[in-house]
Amino acid sequence: MISAKNISKTYDNKKVLDNVSIEIKKGEIVSIVGPSGAGKTTLLHVLSTLDFADKNDKSALFLNEIRIADLKQKEISKFRNSQIGFIFQFHELLPEFTALENVCIPGMIRGDKPKELESRAEKLLKTLDLVHIKNQKPSELSGGEQQRVAVARALINEPSILFADEPSGNLDSKSADNLHQLFFDIRDRLKITIVIVTHNKKLADMADRKLSLVDGKWVK
Ligand code: ADP
Repeated sequence: MISAKNISKTYDNKKVLDNVSIEIKKGEIVSIVGPSGAGKTTLLHVLSTLDFADKNDKSALFLNEIRIADLKQKEISKFRNSQIGFIFQFHELLPEFTALENVCIPGMIRGDKPKELESRAEKLLKTLDLVHIKNQKPSELSGGEQQRVAVARALINEPSILFADEPSGNLDSKSADNLHQLFFDIRDRLKITIVIVTHNKKLADMADRKLSLVDGKWVK
């Protein structure tokens, strides 16, 4: 679950997020839409602990009931690695590694045993219908396959929250539809919370809740 209150973020004297609050229940899929420059990515980064809000007595961020401000930097990194998965517009897979190796990376960072990690990754690739390309490098995969490998990488540590920033922005419409369906399958199977920033109207409308951000504020 996510509970954020009075989140503001200022860059160079410009308020990019202006007192934004949001509550998201476990297992909910929320889409965030809005024009370019509205602050969507900034909000996603703050909610996912990749970035911090402006210091302010009234602001607070709780993830899974944990007050993030109470954690030390090291604890935040550990929390992020175990509880949060990320999917970006450009898959960000490492080109010199195979699909399977890419999926294993967050587990390696956590210090999982290689054998156990590899078998978990294989299982995951199987459920995402990707096991046949496990030994291929990202450049040998289609855009849709690359993005599904990125989804597998985001899920390998069994996170409770998944953040996606324009996940289908770079895909053809059929691959985009498949990826969108995958988010809903994942939620149904794993009961994880999913927050998606998207310009894709179909995806935004499929979500349990669609929120619009304009100039760093929610609009109706
Ligand atoms: P969106 O995702 O809605 O397109 P962003 O969150 O990426 O919007 O950006 C919102 C505003 O914040 C933009 O005007 C952008 O230029 C500015 N911004 C984002 N990140 C930084 C940064 N690291 N430094 C300075 N300005 C930034």
